[in-house]
Amino acid sequence: MLRVLLGRWVVGCALLLGPVTGALAAPSPSGVVRLYDTEYVSAAEFGAQAGLKRLWLVPQKKLLLADKTRRLELEVDSRDFLFNGRRVFLGEPAVAYRNTIYISRIDRDRLLRPILDPRMIPGPVPGLRTVVIDPGHGGKDDGAVNPRLKLKEKEATLDVALRLERLLKAAGYRVLLTRRKDSFVPLPLRPAFAKSEKADLFISIHFNANETRTVVGTETYLLTPQHQRSTGSDRRMPDDAFPQPGNVRDAWNAVLGFKMHNALMGELQTFDRGLKRARFAVLRDLACPGLLVEGGYLSNDTEARKIATPEWRQRLAESLAEGVADYRAVLAARR
Ligand SMILES: [Zn+2]
Repeated sequence: MLRVLLGRWVVGCALLLGPVTGALAAPSPSGVVRLYDTEYVSAAEFGAQAGLKRLWLVPQKKLLLADKTRRLELEVDSRDFLFNGRRVFLGEPAVAYRNTIYISRIDRDRLLRPILDPRMIPGPVPGLRTVVIDPGHGGKDDGAVNPRLKLKEKEATLDVALRLERLLKAAGYRVLLTRRKDSFVPLPLRPAFAKSEKADLFISIHFNANETRTVVGTETYLLTPQHQRSTGSDRRMPDDAFPQPGNVRDAWNAVLGFKMHNALMGELQTFDRGLKRARFAVLRDLACPGLLVEGGYLSNDTEARKIATPEWRQRLAESLAEGVADYRAVLAARR
């Protein structure tokens, strides 16, 4: 569990918007139209550019854009979509407009294009030699606790981090941890350590908690792009307008995040809570691609009992290592 910096969580929120009303400008030559004070583009047009065929799964409501290896399912008024069966959150809901579905321009550029076709990402391809693993919490900060099972988040995160370290070292990476024992490391020092070690990749490991004990599942977080609200926020905040240092890598973060979330869901078979966005302190100042994984809910006794076993924590570490390998394969294909 990571304390959120901005506002309260609205878990799994999908902002429902009414029909488009009022005078609206026609799409500009670039295909951009302004709806709900946001730049939107046609999802079908974007799909055609990416070589995807379109099909209405539910007329005027659910649109499929697909080819042999890619399957994108968008739904009107929904803030999440499915890509190859995995749940991914948009910054803004998809909307109905001109008999088709429109998505925000930032979602197209910072999320959909990178995960659909990483070959289109401009600029240099990141390296991948040094990995910094960040076991959440530690020392005076227990993180989430399941008192019934006497399970502390800070202990589970360190155990998974040490297991992941062994796997990544065996795969040839230089691997460093932000802490190796039960010590308190202030949040800003964690990305600063990664920067000082010239890390190429940052993986923060956490477990979740919710007052509602039935809540379960795994979620993966990436830094929120500039001018977008985080997944847990139901409205835009003034701070959303400011860029964070980590936003330079939005496109590669999206590739990394999807590969990692896909590996986690494929391996763990937990409930898919989605690839989400937050401006967590450990992600904002990163000088390399990075993400934060919430492996499961300690507040749910069934899930916590699994997390308490070394076998399950090993599986989590293995799926994280698989996510790194899948990300590495994308980088290699670009070189
Ligand atoms: Zn945490």
